[in-house]
Amino acid sequence: MRWIQYLGCVFIVSFLIFWGINGAAEFLSRTQFMMGTRVNIIADASPEQINKAFDEIRRIDSLMSGYSPESEISELNREGKIKASVDLREVILKAIHFSQVTEGAFDITVGPLVRLWQKAGREKKLPTAAELEKVLSLVGYRNIVIDKDTIFLQKKNMRLDLGGIAKGYAVDKAIQVLQKNGVKNALVNAGGDMYCLGNGPHGDWRVGVQHPRKMREIIQVIEVKNRAVATSGDYRRYYMIEGERYSHIVNPKTGQTVQNTPMSVTIVAPDATSADALATGVFVLGPEEGMELINSLAQIEGMIISGDMQIRESTGWDGFESADLIDEQARITYNLQK
Ligand code: AMP
Ligand code: MG
Repeated sequence: MRWIQYLGCVFIVSFLIFWGINGAAEFLSRTQFMMGTRVNIIADASPEQINKAFDEIRRIDSLMSGYSPESEISELNREGKIKASVDLREVILKAIHFSQVTEGAFDITVGPLVRLWQKAGREKKLPTAAELEKVLSLVGYRNIVIDKDTIFLQKKNMRLDLGGIAKGYAVDKAIQVLQKNGVKNALVNAGGDMYCLGNGPHGDWRVGVQHPRKMREIIQVIEVKNRAVATSGDYRRYYMIEGERYSHIVNPKTGQTVQNTPMSVTIVAPDATSADALATGVFVLGPEEGMELINSLAQIEGMIISGDMQIRESTGWDGFESADLIDEQARITYNLQK
């Protein structure tokens, strides 16, 4: 009998119980470090089928990684104009869509701003008003032009950063590959951006939403099927400058990082690209405006934990909540002690 598997991804903790009951599906779990995070695939599938899904994530990463100078996105940032792959065009079109939906809170043109804050984090010194102003003039999704297969950045020194959407897109593509290969039940989790296909070993997939400050505590367990779940939080990647915590998510309008509120946003959506982008965008909007947006969107649900630990849930969130959180916590504690 294989016992509990604890998947300690940083944003969301998903956990499952595997039994080797006679005739029951045999789920395999494989983890690889990709896209700067732990990618975990659990599927009622063969190792070969799972490997094909990892290959797909690797392919997407090779197009969209801001760290690799060879990636397609780095080429676009360098050249300002390229004939782009279908994948890059699709992800940028979706990003622009979510910029419109969030009224500019989600914006992949934050590249220069993100770099400025990374530098500030390294040097432990806040950016000056002049530096912020200069960089903000390069931010604005309306300056991305897509004409057939060509992408054009209208301002010199503009930089696209796909960190808030590419993992979700890669998860969706990996799920498509699994489905094409006949897999019916699988979970693909790229560091907190995940899709839950079909069933887990015991019916709906169960996902634990992590406490934003107590790393081993689960705040809530949700049960989902054929849905994506993504969390954006301020607790994994942040900068400490002069004793303050600055999140890695920036407000494209003010140039400031999003501070203290909210601490985590979890979105449930029909696909992981949307869940990923919305989690980041809602994080920028904040608890009130963010929840209003979630409630206004069809097929989107969400939970926001704000700086004062107040938990807000969207109108349809109840449908996902699992009743026996206490039991689950007991089991997780058991597993962590092993
Ligand atoms: P996530 O972890 O999905 O919330 O994405 C955070 C990452 O998205 C950051 O590390 C940046 O690379 C990028 N990012 C930061 N702020 C924004 C923003 N306002 N809109 C879009 N992407 C952002
Ligand atoms: Mg995101």
